[in-house]
Amino acid sequence: MDKIKVLFASSEVSPFVKVGGLADVVGALPVELNKDNIDARVILPLYKKIKIKYQDEMQFLGWKLVRMGWRSLYAGLFQLEKNGTIFYFVDNEYYFNFDQIYVEYVFDIERYCFYQRAVLDFMGDFMNFEPNVLHCNDWQTGMMPMLLDAHFKKHGYHTNVQTVFTIHNLKYQGVHATDVVREMLDLPDEYLRDEFCIKDRAINFMKAGIVFSNSVTTVSPTYAYEIMTDYYGEGLNYTLQKYAYKVSGILNGINDLEYNPKKDDKIPCKYDIKTYKKGKAACKESLQKQLGLEVNPGAPLCAMISRLVDQKGLDLLLYVLDEMLYDGMQIVILGTGDNYYERALVDTANRNPGKMCACIDFDSGLAHTIYAGADIFLMPSLFEPCGLSQLVSMAYGTVPVVRETGGLKDTVTPYNEFTGEGNGFSFANINAHEFLFVTKYACDLYRNHKDVWDKLIQAGMSGDYSWKKSAREYAGLYSLITGMPLPEEAKEEPKAEKKPEAEKKEPAKKAADKKPAEKKTEAKSAPAKASAKKSSKKPAAKKDETK
Ligand code: ADP
Repeated sequence: MDKIKVLFASSEVSPFVKVGGLADVVGALPVELNKDNIDARVILPLYKKIKIKYQDEMQFLGWKLVRMGWRSLYAGLFQLEKNGTIFYFVDNEYYFNFDQIYVEYVFDIERYCFYQRAVLDFMGDFMNFEPNVLHCNDWQTGMMPMLLDAHFKKHGYHTNVQTVFTIHNLKYQGVHATDVVREMLDLPDEYLRDEFCIKDRAINFMKAGIVFSNSVTTVSPTYAYEIMTDYYGEGLNYTLQKYAYKVSGILNGINDLEYNPKKDDKIPCKYDIKTYKKGKAACKESLQKQLGLEVNPGAPLCAMISRLVDQKGLDLLLYVLDEMLYDGMQIVILGTGDNYYERALVDTANRNPGKMCACIDFDSGLAHTIYAGADIFLMPSLFEPCGLSQLVSMAYGTVPVVRETGGLKDTVTPYNEFTGEGNGFSFANINAHEFLFVTKYACDLYRNHKDVWDKLIQAGMSGDYSWKKSAREYAGLYSLITGMPLPEEAKEEPKAEKKPEAEKKEPAKKAADKKPAEKKTEAKSAPAKASAKKSSKKPAAKKDETK
């Protein structure tokens, strides 16, 4: 039986280059697909950083002249095999020999026009790989399905290549002047239409990807639904509604080799679901000492590890931060981003020595020790396509408090005090006090109901966040659009994706036979009740300094 052949195109791929979650997905998913009998390969630009680190391992396959309007530009092709997966690299020093991945917006548009044309020119005989599916990711690859149509399929080339376009974040769309992009991509006039790639009189790469691909995916089922609404749709909601029949959401996983408290060398005390009490206590004490917090095992330690941008709900946090600290919570923030948030967090931390620490840094070692040492993980995001941090926190037995949006809604089941179901806490509206009350409710359970807390930790730690499940869903999608049979292993898997998310999770207690709607109502009413009977204990003030 022929294997389904898939070529992933992406501007970032872990471990070669990473700016955000996109790199994690395109780094892990093809590796998992290869284990699942799909021939998945990846093509990305050969950035300077990769060239220096991996050049000895790379094999040069050849070069071509790629057309960009009136110019013909050199494009080299390199290959490297890693983790059982073949990675191709498109070389051109004028475009990719920079220290940063993304350089400057207008130049980035040109760089990724070149990259997209080069990938399509290399595909097939030159790289000795004609995929059944070209899997594009985010705006940097959004024009490829349309270019495939305009320059190849119409002339009888790559006629059997199907396309998938995955939206990792709809906010960034690749928008630029029509004349400039038309010239670089040699686009025939018939493609420059509002129904195709034009939005507000400019070319929109994201829109082209949605319109021309055979299937559009996003990184969670709830985000797939949300982006069709005015609030989350970033101006493309009507386009997405029109093509709703081909839009679906598949949740991301996490790399369980990197995020596993049992094998994590970065944390002071390794632990698993049987030994977490001792392990987490040791990690918490060590974290409190490391960050200059009061060493107090009873104080709920709430953490956030994030880009400091408005998307992550920093305004909600700042609005109620003082009240959280007054309530006796310890707060740790690790992140970098907007200057305004960085300064506001550092100011509050300076006013609250021993209670709060704001680490303005990107530090994956510290991130691991925080995931292990914290009790509660805060994610009050305004929108969240999937979110990885809540999955990592649950894997480390740190209970998440999230806003019900995107992947957060799909992965965190709020604690229901009547059924015992749940692996975290959630609130519905973009409202700082809803966030505060739910967090206080979580702290109340942490302080006064250890049995409940243990069940929440166990529910989180026993969840399956691996890529296996997602890879199987992508395999199903490839099979659907190509008409090729699913590989054996994928066929044997139970059809878990058909179940509603809430049922998929392992509840802390076996859920009673209630309808999902009823459960939700109860879960939401619970925080209000509990916060009324919260303890009025104040934190014992000690004089330890923050970092
Ligand atoms: P996004 O992709 O929107 O930034 P995600 O939750 O999907 O958010 O993924 C963010 C990932 O980056 C998480 O694994 C998180 O631990 C990590 N991360 C974010 N900020 C930092 C930081 N300052 N230091 C270390 N890791 C970070």
